[in-house]
Amino acid sequence: MQIKKKQVNGCLNCNSKVFIFEKDILGKKYPTKCRRCGTKNRRIVNYCPYCNSKKYFPWGNKVRDFYSAECSKCHLVYIKNPLSTEAQNLYYKNYATNVHQKRNIKVKQRSIMYKQELNYLKSVVENFNNIKNVLDVGCGGGFFLDLFKKYNKKTYGVEVSEDSYLIAKKKHKMYYGNFDDNLNLKKKFDLIIMRGVVEHVENPKKYIFNAQKILKKEGYIFISATPDLNCVSAKIFKERWTQHRPESHILHLSENHIDSLFLNKKFTKVGSHSFYLKTPYENFEKDINEIVLEIKRQRKGIKSKSISPAFFGNMITLIYKKR
Ligand SMILES: [Zn+2]
Ligand SMILES: [Zn+2]
Repeated sequence: MQIKKKQVNGCLNCNSKVFIFEKDILGKKYPTKCRRCGTKNRRIVNYCPYCNSKKYFPWGNKVRDFYSAECSKCHLVYIKNPLSTEAQNLYYKNYATNVHQKRNIKVKQRSIMYKQELNYLKSVVENFNNIKNVLDVGCGGGFFLDLFKKYNKKTYGVEVSEDSYLIAKKKHKMYYGNFDDNLNLKKKFDLIIMRGVVEHVENPKKYIFNAQKILKKEGYIFISATPDLNCVSAKIFKERWTQHRPESHILHLSENHIDSLFLNKKFTKVGSHSFYLKTPYENFEKDINEIVLEIKRQRKGIKSKSISPAFFGNMITLIYKKR
């Protein structure tokens, strides 16, 4: 079985839209199982993936029968009934073909972003030449890593999506799988990249702590192209925020969530930037206008299907240095 779309609307096996509901730990019901064929398409998340609290309140409206919750304690937003592990594996199996590399324009826009982000990184780190090896966690087809190879860095990648892994393997030293304890990396790195990763994983803290462990002293962790929950678009548009994609973005962190995993440890934050102006996604006047229109609609109680524009703060880039 393969998934051909980037959005999953209904049962992965028989396409039926009718789900059986299951209770979460607080007794609230969420759709999980296909009524027609019994396939378990969704799982229930009972505890906040960041702070483990079971208390939450609803966040935004449901999207394709995915419900979102805001943790009452730490205010992380997470999907209450994300794709089941099996469904998620199917979803990522052909991620490169079906989602990531599907549209030419997106690929071009992203390659511009790679250059901008690399330039930013070079402007922040003390001596880019001292970086000998680079690990990109969730490297996709290894396209961001390609740039580092041009600077004669030794390039390593971790990837869980099979087709992406096979593309990257032709160019970089690759590890196949999730970035967890089973992945036996017997190496330390000068730079670890997580570009568009932490919002995809069940346990973002574990990913970050694992990276911290295998980072050399004076090395850098570069977390980039990650949605920031604490941005204007998320506040106004909620589930119509362009970064709210429940199949893949199973949680939304804010910059504070990420900071607090670093700052009480042996790390210094050396960079924080939100790419928007001069990116291929920017259309400043139009974007402002769309936001103003949405606020007006909400004031008047008019329902809207508009998706948020690209804007300041939608995505963040953070750089931490190990002391
Ligand atoms: Zn079914
Ligand atoms: Zn929480």
